[in-house]
Amino acid sequence: MRFDRLTSSEAVAALAARPVALLALGAIENHGEHLPLGTDNDLAQGVVDAVEARIPDALVLPPIAYGQAWSTAGFPGTLSLSVATLQGLIVDLGVSLRRQGVEVLALVNGHMGNLDAMKLAARQLHDEHDMTVLTLTYPGTAAVQEQVLEAERWHGTYFHADEMETSLMLHLAPEGVRMELAEANYPERPATFDVTPTPWTDLSDTPVIGDPRVATAEKGRAIVEAAVEAIVALIGHARAARPGAGGADRPAGGAGGTPAEGR
Ligand SMILES: [Zn+2]
Repeated sequence: MRFDRLTSSEAVAALAARPVALLALGAIENHGEHLPLGTDNDLAQGVVDAVEARIPDALVLPPIAYGQAWSTAGFPGTLSLSVATLQGLIVDLGVSLRRQGVEVLALVNGHMGNLDAMKLAARQLHDEHDMTVLTLTYPGTAAVQEQVLEAERWHGTYFHADEMETSLMLHLAPEGVRMELAEANYPERPATFDVTPTPWTDLSDTPVIGDPRVATAEKGRAIVEAAVEAIVALIGHARAARPGAGGADRPAGGAGGTPAEGR
């Protein structure tokens, strides 16, 4: 249910059920000529909506539509928050929710630049407010990505306006995609790229990395379905592990970890 649509007494009833809160995190960021600035918002909210359909008592919060986008800040259209601002925003929302009985907050993220702030906020809410925060950036999708994606990856970790992200958009928000304008881009990567801050404007005149021309909705659907499956399972585990939760509804299967977990 949409949290911001509830009335006072509806909110009281919804919060009494010890619900999980779902918060989409995206960004306003240049994605080249074939995808809109709000691509990460469309994707994160699309995943949240699919997760909501599987968890009847989930509270869907209005999204955080701005992200930390230092790497692409020099490209037209990118609006960036600092890590501290984004961390503070997540923590403040978490504290408000925790005060009202929410124990598990799931951050469903569509933008790599948000990972540091999410991790710091999750730790702070854990240490200072006894809240379980899940940081979820397409968890459980490594195998299916390997299986369905065809183009050479520009980088092992980063995806941006490439085959993967364009496929996700073709599945979740196809009206925003202009495939006729999609172009491949494989800029030369400096040897120090992974070990020193490198604005992407130093690499290329577009932040597209990879080959979006081979993207399809079917590839996107396969990746989203795997992510939703993993997120639903992870939320089940997190809720069952909270003190006072009955063990009966503890999910049986394991879910893939999120790429953000080890960071
Ligand atoms: Zn993106």
